[in-house]
Amino acid sequence: MSNIKVLISKEKIEKRTDEIAKEIYEEYKNKDVTALCTLKGSIFFAVDLLKKIPLNIPIEFIRPKSYIATKTVGDVNFDNSFNPDLKNKNVLIIEDIIDTGYTIDSLVSKIKEMGANDIKVCVLLDKEEKRIIDYNVDYTGFKIEDKFVLGYGLDYDEKYRNLPYIAYVDGDIYVEKDYTNIKTKD
Ligand code: IMP
Ligand code: MG
Repeated sequence: MSNIKVLISKEKIEKRTDEIAKEIYEEYKNKDVTALCTLKGSIFFAVDLLKKIPLNIPIEFIRPKSYIATKTVGDVNFDNSFNPDLKNKNVLIIEDIIDTGYTIDSLVSKIKEMGANDIKVCVLLDKEEKRIIDYNVDYTGFKIEDKFVLGYGLDYDEKYRNLPYIAYVDGDIYVEKDYTNIKTKD
């Protein structure tokens, strides 16, 4: 039997995404905003969230790289092939998960340097207890305990991103090729 277990079901993700979309709509209904989605982890969340916000929102991407397998490293780099023009823009960062806080902190500094007018952060998951660098997030999907999570954009060595829910690993990780082996209910 698989040791991949469901942590947050797709129904729960969808309900929470609806709520956040409404809050974001209220914030930006009278001003422009550009969504800045972090690759690759945030794409499932960003796509679902942005479809629920009935405003004209340009979408940009950026690719911070700070993670090797299951260990966070403090040194955050950015892939230079993404160079969105954010000068004088109101930017809504959409991120998959905040763990130590290094990635979001570096990302916000970089976007400030790029001349953004205003920066807000929307994150799907927050592992609060792992925080090393404090950052005040504007919109949070779910606070989770310190477990390595997978699915809905999040990966383990590029695997499992396309699981439709958020899962965690119970014990040692091994890669399941066929997701139908994973029990989706307790
Ligand atoms: P931080 O810089 O430590 O806050 O880590 C943030 C980045 O690490 C996220 O953007 C993810 O790419 C990755 N990450 C952190 N925790 C997990 C996890 O549990 N599963 C998959 N990726 C993770
Ligand atoms: Mg990421």
